[in-house]
Amino acid sequence: MSAHAASYTDVNTSAFTCFESNVRSYCRSFPAVFRSAKGAQLFDEYGNAYLDFFAGAGALNYGHNPDAIKQRLIEYLQNDGITHGLDMYTGAKRQFIETFNDLVLQPKGLHYKLQFCGPTGTNAVEAALKLARKVTKRTGVFAFMGGYHGMSLGALAATSNRESRAGAGLPLHDVTFMPFPAHGFCASFDTIEYLRMALSDGHSGIDIPAAIIVEPIQAEGGINVASAAWLQRLRRLCDEYQILLIADEIQVGCGRTGPFFAFERAGIVPDMVTLSKSISGYGLPMSLLLMKPELDVWSPGEHNGTFRGHQLAFVAATAALECFSTQNFEARTLLREREVKTFLEQEMKPLHAAIEIRGAGLIWGVDVAGAGGQALAKQVAQRCFEQKLIMERAGRNDTVLKIMPPLMIEPAQLREGLTILRDALRDCLAVAPRRVAVLPRTETRSNAFAS
Ligand code: PLP
Repeated sequence: MSAHAASYTDVNTSAFTCFESNVRSYCRSFPAVFRSAKGAQLFDEYGNAYLDFFAGAGALNYGHNPDAIKQRLIEYLQNDGITHGLDMYTGAKRQFIETFNDLVLQPKGLHYKLQFCGPTGTNAVEAALKLARKVTKRTGVFAFMGGYHGMSLGALAATSNRESRAGAGLPLHDVTFMPFPAHGFCASFDTIEYLRMALSDGHSGIDIPAAIIVEPIQAEGGINVASAAWLQRLRRLCDEYQILLIADEIQVGCGRTGPFFAFERAGIVPDMVTLSKSISGYGLPMSLLLMKPELDVWSPGEHNGTFRGHQLAFVAATAALECFSTQNFEARTLLREREVKTFLEQEMKPLHAAIEIRGAGLIWGVDVAGAGGQALAKQVAQRCFEQKLIMERAGRNDTVLKIMPPLMIEPAQLREGLTILRDALRDCLAVAPRRVAVLPRTETRSNAFAS
């Protein structure tokens, strides 16, 4: 089939628009019908190639259909390997547990027990919150403004987006939202001192919580990067008040920022860690809660689910961890980090005085809140899609253009995508009505992260 022109009006989407619920969302931003994908590229039904700066919302750190993982899956299927096993003992699960211990936990001196949760990230968050409440016998949780932890009710209660919360249709309880340091006016005061005041003042009206749940980098919240120093102070505060610290690494874990865990840059050890998305390495559903051994107070079957521990995901995840260590993903990602940072600072930031750039590893945001806001960001993302670049928006009012390619992206592909983004932003700025910056200019947040 020949390549299709830029118009998407004659793409056959009637099956979706007639029969699929209105709840569908990403397809509205990327209205092609995709058929295949490889590496950092997707192909639509007309054979058009798209560069991927989206990576399945973080589920495809190893790219689409990576050969080394695919081969293991094919072999497993050809040998009639067990595909569904609830939480029964299987060879695939044993191999994953051993590999995760050998390649991730042990070399980092981390001691965690593993809980396999229902298939998606929100299930791991539910398990973490439930367990924290059970261990501490407290009900409250602190989460952060701008945080995203999932859509099931417990996780949604810890998610700050008002629109998403409204979808619950009932009151969401027992979570107190605290200011996250790296956003807007919160960047200008000591948020840890604020937390300390809430905890230490007997008249703050806020009970000591069971847990504090934090994304070391808020992803959906707009690529807000907590500094290493801030995370260290948060850890110390939790210790002082015997509050469990939960690191939500669902989007920024699995090497997205370079090291396997995003919290590693701060040298802290959370009490619990949630993982999902790229843990399986192949976009297969899997979610995992890591807990310090002494927190494992579950009774057998107390937190259950039919699809815990997808066997194909175990097979893929084992192969993915091997790739991560043998193919030097950490070093490669840090190399790409420098390339992206340099490009953004030299080629994007000069386009408008109010553009902010934040990120680490291979998750970066170009925030145009002060340079044209939501309308500009939408226009830029649309233009990128017309130029065959798939890229999501994030943050308050979706003003942050989110750069999150697969970690295996080739340098030339990365540069090509960044160039498309720069040109789209430059062209849209040229026609957009000039707006005065509403936010004070701040330092690049990635610098703060390294502090
Ligand atoms: N936590 C974080 C940090 C996330 O980014 C997400 C999803 O984007 C979730 C939790 C929820 O994961 P899932 O959509 O797989 O339920």
